[in-house]
Amino acid sequence: MRLDRFLGQRKRLGRRGVRLLLAAGRVTVDGRVIQDGRHEVGPFTPVALDGEPFTVRRAAYWMLHKPTGCVSATRDRHHRTVLDCLDPADATDLHLAGRLDFNSTGLMLLTNDGRWSRRLSDPRHKLPKVYRVRTEDPITPDYAAVFERGLYFPYEDRTTRPAGLEILAPREARVTLYEGLYHQIKRLFGHFDNRVVALHRERIGPIRLDPSLAPGQYRALGADEIRLPG
Ligand code: URA
Repeated sequence: MRLDRFLGQRKRLGRRGVRLLLAAGRVTVDGRVIQDGRHEVGPFTPVALDGEPFTVRRAAYWMLHKPTGCVSATRDRHHRTVLDCLDPADATDLHLAGRLDFNSTGLMLLTNDGRWSRRLSDPRHKLPKVYRVRTEDPITPDYAAVFERGLYFPYEDRTTRPAGLEILAPREARVTLYEGLYHQIKRLFGHFDNRVVALHRERIGPIRLDPSLAPGQYRALGADEIRLPG
């Protein structure tokens, strides 16, 4: 948002009050005096008035190995949520960047940076989400063309975007999606009356699940993982 709006909200000042603060050179952004109210600041930009910092929020980015049997939500009346895997001190103010079903496992990303999570899930950026899937019945090569062509989902009234299928074993495959519709992989396999018995997310865009994390464990993302392509 614009610096003048930010100051107006935080200091409960009218436009004239904000203009005076700025003109007096009392406001710094990233340590530099800024006098132009049109200057853009983000939710984590360090802004200070007379040297006193406003911004106390720090950006947080976590990678969790989601275990089975917990809900991808920040609150649930009946079940454990993915937030229950985190130390309470790390779990405040977070939202999920993408979801996994109750019994699905693997990479979950949690953050307080809405701009970052929107970029991650925006289908225009075409970030692949890669899953390992086990099914009840054998997977045959004809599935791949259907996944690639897309399937019509009547509830959403839309056809799925092309998805990748790599068969790894008779009942095991790697699936790549570029979107996240409700139960998408289960419904794609459901088209062939083949039930998904295990589903594990390995990767979202450039971020891979750290193999040293056991189910239920988590760690902070590194700077190279936070930086998204494009
Ligand atoms: N597709 C599904 O069906 N379930 C998931 O958890 C993720 C993708």
